[in-house]
Amino acid sequence: MTMGYDAPDQNGRFGPYGGAFVPEILIPELHAVQEAFERSWADPAFQHQYLSLLHTYVGRPTALTFAERLSHELGRGQIYLKREDLCHTGAHKINNTIGQILLALQMGKTRIIAETGAGQHGVATATVAARFGLQCIVYMGAEDMDRQALNVERMKLLGAEVRPATSGSQTLKDATNEAIRDWVSNPTDTFYIIGSVVGPHPYPMMVRTFHKIIGEEVQTQLQEKVQRSTPDAVVACVGGGSNAIGIFYPFINAPDVQMFGVEAAGEGLHGKHAATLTLGEVGVLHGAMSYLLQDQEGQISLAHSVSAGLDYPGVGPEHSYLKDLGRVHYLSETDDAALKGVSLLSRTEGIIPALETAHAIAALETIVHQMENDAVIVVNCSGRGDKDMQTIMDHL
Ligand SMILES: *Cc1c(COP(=O)(O)O)cnc(C)c1O
Repeated sequence: MTMGYDAPDQNGRFGPYGGAFVPEILIPELHAVQEAFERSWADPAFQHQYLSLLHTYVGRPTALTFAERLSHELGRGQIYLKREDLCHTGAHKINNTIGQILLALQMGKTRIIAETGAGQHGVATATVAARFGLQCIVYMGAEDMDRQALNVERMKLLGAEVRPATSGSQTLKDATNEAIRDWVSNPTDTFYIIGSVVGPHPYPMMVRTFHKIIGEEVQTQLQEKVQRSTPDAVVACVGGGSNAIGIFYPFINAPDVQMFGVEAAGEGLHGKHAATLTLGEVGVLHGAMSYLLQDQEGQISLAHSVSAGLDYPGVGPEHSYLKDLGRVHYLSETDDAALKGVSLLSRTEGIIPALETAHAIAALETIVHQMENDAVIVVNCSGRGDKDMQTIMDHL
């Protein structure tokens, strides 16, 4: 069923999911973005510029680290960590913002907008806007600005303007609405950098393409380390789903590779959580059809996770499709399990992971028991935990 997988189709559909549910005025803009993306990605000069920035500015290729003591502690499996935590700005997100800002430059855009929840995507966007000297406006929920004051200061230091979204719950959902409103009013000079494999077509496909280098590097690095280019399993946390798709994508047509996506179960699946694929229902949010957390009237529910990056009521449409196909197994881990995952990796490997990443670490205890004793398992270490120290201290 999944051999020859080549979603999305011409209309940006991953099976029934995806598409472009946006105000009419943005349709020509989305077409222009898609056209520029397809032309640029096929252009060797663009490829060269993208890859050399990833090398000299982001620090790619990131290491693939054998986690010997973690493997020993789990008692099964050979665990390898793909070290996206070593990227400039501390997480995978910059692979995508580099790609999108180069596209904005190709299109002659002079003004960058972005939405951000916890501020991580805002920082990654402000970083590349500074690098190329473009004006940058980041929309952020007023409530989130209070909770993530340090990231607000980072963005300002990088020269970005942070505009508070004061409607609704004053969080990511409202910031996204503001960003779309801005784009509708300024379509000619503005490029909207979206931070995960979400939003209307062509964004999910484009963001996936800018992150698939993660999995491609794993293929080369595994070949050197274990003399084969495919692991037995790949594991990644899922918020919107970009770090997961980045490491999964090159393996989708390799049926022997099992794939596990780990969502945030928050306080537990009967309480407040962000387990969109596990418990959500199909609907439309931020321009695409996908599984969503919603109430009986179809209103979007507030998600909860101790990790700000997984605290999102939607998920990328491709993950909804991969779930229905049965190609990826989606699990969930609670806040408490993630906090234990932070300690486990810190103590065994000397690597303090982001709280998002810690969900993938926590799931290993379950996953290793579904695999052969000596299975090669690659975990995407999506980010480092420095940003989470306050939260970690409050909880441990
Ligand atoms: C933002 C973030 C995530 C979640 O986003 P995805 O699009 O699901 O990858 C995961 N890990 C880290 C470190 C992040 O900053």
